[in-house]
Amino acid sequence: MAAIDGRTRLVGLLGHPIEHTLSPAMHNAAFNALGLNYCYLPLPVAPAELGAAIAGVVALGFVGVNVTIPHKQNVMAYLDEISTEAQAIGAVNLIEFRQNRRIGHNMDGIGFLEALRRQQITVRGARSLVFGAGGAARAVVYKRLHARAEGTILNRTTARAESLAAALCSAAGDVRLTAGPLDTEYVAALAAETDLVVNTTALGMTPAVESNPWPASVPYPARAVAYDLVYAPRETAFLRTAKAAGARTIDGLQMLLYQGALAFEMWTGQPAPLDVMLSELLKGRMHS
Ligand code: NAP
Repeated sequence: MAAIDGRTRLVGLLGHPIEHTLSPAMHNAAFNALGLNYCYLPLPVAPAELGAAIAGVVALGFVGVNVTIPHKQNVMAYLDEISTEAQAIGAVNLIEFRQNRRIGHNMDGIGFLEALRRQQITVRGARSLVFGAGGAARAVVYKRLHARAEGTILNRTTARAESLAAALCSAAGDVRLTAGPLDTEYVAALAAETDLVVNTTALGMTPAVESNPWPASVPYPARAVAYDLVYAPRETAFLRTAKAAGARTIDGLQMLLYQGALAFEMWTGQPAPLDVMLSELLKGRMHS
């Protein structure tokens, strides 16, 4: 690790709790690999201290910060500017401090799309099935709409899927987006006409690693790319189901990696060393 000195530029992560974050290791390894005098710090901040923490990082001259649970929505009150995408998603996970302004972004959707793009998977016009209607689903569906894609959102709490579909459809106008419950009947009816299936629910995440949003009684369509946002474990039960059917799969570590790379590039103005960052994420996954 490069020595910290009077010229070290600071970045970090605001969240609570953040004991298990992989971001400091990933970013510091990347700074180190490129010989950049930057340091990425974990910044545990209780909800009641969020405003003071933002004022603090500004006062300390931070270049920017990532923002995670539980601050992604509440932090918006402390910003001067919020990107159109972050406004539509309703959450900020990256702040840059530029020319005395606090500018909020959301990199979830861009990171999600970048992983598809890198694997040369065409998303324009594709029909997608999205499991879940929480914060990550908002980011994913927002991006899918802008790729002129049709889609269905299925969620355990159907009303949440319906309100997400309605909100994003009204933002994007002429795109067809439907919603329903996350149940076997719906999945069976949609399976044959789906090009991309995205799991944005927490199903399959450690410790409940055998839970799977894809119903066991419905054959997985081999033509549909399976994309799981869950990254712990890297190969989820859902991805195993898709792989066994011969489908292409993308794991959640990819989205995490590309989001991190985008933040790195915004802060440093240099291309991110993706191989170094991925290898840190993999090391972190083995130890967590
Ligand atoms: P969130 O806002 O809390 O939403 C959670 C979603 O999961 C909701 O749709 C919820 O359904 C559903 N869910 C939770 N437990 C379920 C269960 N037992 N059965 C069925 N559905 C269930 O969380 P989020 O921020 O969207 O994150 C969701 C997942 O995405 C997490 O695993 C997170 O780690 C992952 N993620 C990954 C990345 C990445 O870079 N790879 C980025 C962001 C998020 P209800 O509405 O019915 O509660």
